[in-house]
Amino acid sequence: MKIIGIDIGGMSAKAGIVNENGEILYKRTVVTEKETSSGVFISDMAHLTFDLLADAGLTLNDIDGIGLGFPGSINDEKGIVRYCCNLNLRNVEFVKLFKSSLNFKKPVMISNDANCAVLAEAKFGAAKGAKDVVMFTLGTGIGTGIISGGRLITGNASAGSEGGHTTLIMGGKQCGCGRKGCFEAYASATALLNQTKEAVEKNPDSLLAEKVNAEGLSGKVPFDCAMLGDRTALEVVRNYTKYLGEGVVNFCNIFYPEIVLLGGGVSNQGDNIVRPLQRYIDLNVYGREYNPKIKVAVAAMGNDAGIIGAAALCLQ
Ligand SMILES: [Zn+2]
Repeated sequence: MKIIGIDIGGMSAKAGIVNENGEILYKRTVVTEKETSSGVFISDMAHLTFDLLADAGLTLNDIDGIGLGFPGSINDEKGIVRYCCNLNLRNVEFVKLFKSSLNFKKPVMISNDANCAVLAEAKFGAAKGAKDVVMFTLGTGIGTGIISGGRLITGNASAGSEGGHTTLIMGGKQCGCGRKGCFEAYASATALLNQTKEAVEKNPDSLLAEKVNAEGLSGKVPFDCAMLGDRTALEVVRNYTKYLGEGVVNFCNIFYPEIVLLGGGVSNQGDNIVRPLQRYIDLNVYGREYNPKIKVAVAAMGNDAGIIGAAALCLQ
């Protein structure tokens, strides 16, 4: 079986030919631009597909399906891209137009990239074999991907699973979505940077301030300084972990997954974020005395998760 998976981003689109074991056989990347009209964008994706097939010495007849993951709001069932971050796509009947531009009769599936990521992990990665998985991608915002009872949960018109915009603190910090106090305003990588910056301003004599001034602001610096025992950094990490823990426990109490996965920039901290989050869940999830333990792990698919997850849309 050969599926084409295309991982679309604001800067580039990465395409791969993926087999049923989640292995990428061939790969190709093109640049994407914000100004490109939807018609040109679709023809660019068709060219990408044909170029990839040419690399592999294959034709569309050899392909069993094409999956595409987008950073935005997608109607999976109707194949419509409602909105896409950093790309000029608004209410585009993508699947219909893409299929006709390729003259492809087999399935073309589209979804949000957070959904693709959790599918890739549940099929081939850190949650392989699990039927109940919640994944949090901690980057600019927070993306959530939910698999419950073996099914991807997306809600009516696939408009749901926007866990980053559940309220963590009523009337709290301004979120990019227009509301206040969202989970992502407290526990995304961007939020961690803001919390670090505030701590540095309040504690200019700390090791954290010294390192930030020398190395620049990053999500890594507070973790590094906390390891060295810096009080200011320890407080940043402790508070951040608590925000993340509170948000994650909310999802655990609804979905009670077998495994919670972390992706995105913050997950690069590995055990430094997994261990405290594991402890937080163990201590706070409802029914902790008698229910099975919920495991926390870092996503395993790395840079290729987007391609494999998009292809996995055709393997559900
Ligand atoms: Zn929000």
